Amino acid sequence: MKIDFALLLKNKSLKIQRTEWMPAFEIYDDVVISKPFELTACAYIEQDKIYVELAAVYITTMTCSRCLIEFTTKQTLRFKEGYTPDQLEEQYPQGVLDTAELAREQIILKTPIKNVCKDDCLGLCPVCGKDKNIHACDCETEKKNPYFEKLEVLLSDTDKEV
Ligand SMILES: [Zn+2]
Ligand SMILES: [Zn+2]
Repeated sequence: MKIDFALLLKNKSLKIQRTEWMPAFEIYDDVVISKPFELTACAYIEQDKIYVELAAVYITTMTCSRCLIEFTTKQTLRFKEGYTPDQLEEQYPQGVLDTAELAREQIILKTPIKNVCKDDCLGLCPVCGKDKNIHACDCETEKKNPYFEKLEVLLSDTDKEV
């Protein structure tokens, strides 16, 4: 839905509310919203500020960064922001806010780049490559392949940057 600020400012008691369908979209390469979902958006004026609220429930399909399985999770978007007319003019010079675009931005912002299927996911064995959640392997950590050890250091460094 497109929120027209001039219209709201003219009718200060007006409350615009609408539910729209959001199309499926890709957040990152391995994080996808594969089904359309409902977005409820509303806008109103309170104490000289224009408030915009968004609410949605959507399903993401993502790849676990430890064990590489694909899994789905239910996510909730709840957004509320109050803007002064000046702030709105600065951010939306055309005088119109597209709630679908704002919802997309907010969903991307709240989605981590790295995701795990469960907090205690054991991941893949760095020696034999098996999924340790399914098969407990006999590989000893002391006998780690030196190549994988280096790789792990590199990967944990990238973790810190994220
Ligand atoms: Zn996992
Ligand atoms: Zn192993």
